[in-house]
Amino acid sequence: MSDDTPTGAIIQRDKATYAIVPKTPVGLLSVEHLESIAAVVRKYNIPIIKITSGQRFALVGIKKEDVGNVWKDLGMDPGKAAGSELCLHYVQACPGTAVCRFGVQDSIGLGNEVDKFFSEMELAAKVKIGVSGCPFCCGESFVRDIGVLGKKNGWTLIIGGSSARRPRIGDVIAENLSKEEVLNLIRRFLQYYSTHAKKKERTARFLDLLGVENIKEAILQ
Ligand code: SF4
Repeated sequence: MSDDTPTGAIIQRDKATYAIVPKTPVGLLSVEHLESIAAVVRKYNIPIIKITSGQRFALVGIKKEDVGNVWKDLGMDPGKAAGSELCLHYVQACPGTAVCRFGVQDSIGLGNEVDKFFSEMELAAKVKIGVSGCPFCCGESFVRDIGVLGKKNGWTLIIGGSSARRPRIGDVIAENLSKEEVLNLIRRFLQYYSTHAKKKERTARFLDLLGVENIKEAILQ
């Protein structure tokens, strides 16, 4: 990111325009959000609206001088999206018991709590979290830094997954957890990770280097 990059914006390939990504925890949007997005897209002639893999809208091709006013008009918080932001970037979640007939756990409810508790935590690198309401795993829990998966007897916690250039299936750390237990274990893992990982070392690499058994021993006491 160059020094004069506007707050909450990412420079694009043309080196002239910017993208912004409003925060939409667990991919939920209200009609007011949609109306605000449509209004700024028209007002500022934003050429591209792209749905991202993290269940967010990216508004792409914004002129530098418009970025501040776009944020003001949108009335939404910026989502973390630049690689230099070492923190939780997003929590994605499937619909779970809110609406899905296969759901056995409340993935949207848990995803919102995870976002609320861990969004502001400083971490070693960016972290993505996926929450699924049943073993079909539509929240992509095995390929996120932290994955949570609902089964009839409770939540399963998975860490160290990645869908990137060196893909990695995450390791199951604990099963049959209550909501409080899974939140507590996520906190313990994130604290351990932010203390012991090198800067910008993603969880997948961290798991490979330290070994899952060592990490389990450290956080499951
Ligand atoms: S993971 Fe299960 S609960 Fe979630 S959307 Fe898929 S089928 Fe439904």
